Amino acid sequence: MAAATIPAARGGEIRNPEAPSEGHSPSGSAAAAVALVDSHCHIVFRNFDDDLDAVAQRWREAGIRRLLHACVEPSEIPAIRALADRFPELRYSVGVHPLDTEHWQADTAQVLRAAAEADPRVLAIGELGLDLFREKNLEQQLAVLRPQLDLACELDLPVIIHCRDAAEPMLAELRERRERGACPRGVMHCWGGTPEEMAGFLELGLFISFSGTVTFPKAEATHACAREVPADRYLVETDCPFLAPVPRRGKRNEPAYVAAVAQRVADLRGESLETVARQSTANAEALFGLGLGLAADTV
Ligand SMILES: [Zn+2]
Repeated sequence: MAAATIPAARGGEIRNPEAPSEGHSPSGSAAAAVALVDSHCHIVFRNFDDDLDAVAQRWREAGIRRLLHACVEPSEIPAIRALADRFPELRYSVGVHPLDTEHWQADTAQVLRAAAEADPRVLAIGELGLDLFREKNLEQQLAVLRPQLDLACELDLPVIIHCRDAAEPMLAELRERRERGACPRGVMHCWGGTPEEMAGFLELGLFISFSGTVTFPKAEATHACAREVPADRYLVETDCPFLAPVPRRGKRNEPAYVAAVAQRVADLRGESLETVARQSTANAEALFGLGLGLAADTV
């Protein structure tokens, strides 16, 4: 696919000419003026094999300063590490997804610990969590979730939490852990729950990350969450190659499109894209320690 056929998030799409300028020049450099973080992506998947350099060019043009690459099971780690070698703005997590429980072996916690300790670019454990939409094996998922939450506490790393149709057992697990001082910090990735559920996770200290689903017209609960979430507690992500934001819904998603997610969050909050970019980037920095040097970059 030629780059020119993909209307990447640049020019008119990333800019918001109606928004107050907030100190940024209103002249033609808006794309460079926003600094965004795609806090959750999967560019290791094979459908990026053919054009990853063009994909990277587009995320750079869209102002994406860091990408946090999520891991679904340990065999991915060498390939993700190679991507971090290739793209200096990439950081990554290590972990086992709740729909990949068959990949949890007796030595997996040790494998994840070793990978995290070997590379300072490993900034989180995950993605981990519970998914009762696709599977009903709650006990098996909990058996994979718990040692990863323990590992995050042990290594003092945040967790990236996948939680689908499972807010109740996830809240119960995290609240029980908080009682005994074993609840890690982290983010609810690809948030799709209700405002009430969000309040529970916020109360546990977790961040809330919005993906392309926030651009879907019928995602009313997610819209409400984007309006209500405190300014210092939200992130933006693509979860690419899944969940492309409107107007590319159904197509392959890519990191540059996080700008469309940020724009929709900005519209819902009645704020400028610049404000949401600056805030979500600062929040991602606060949670993960991305090394962005924000004072010089975003003010
Ligand atoms: Zn993911």
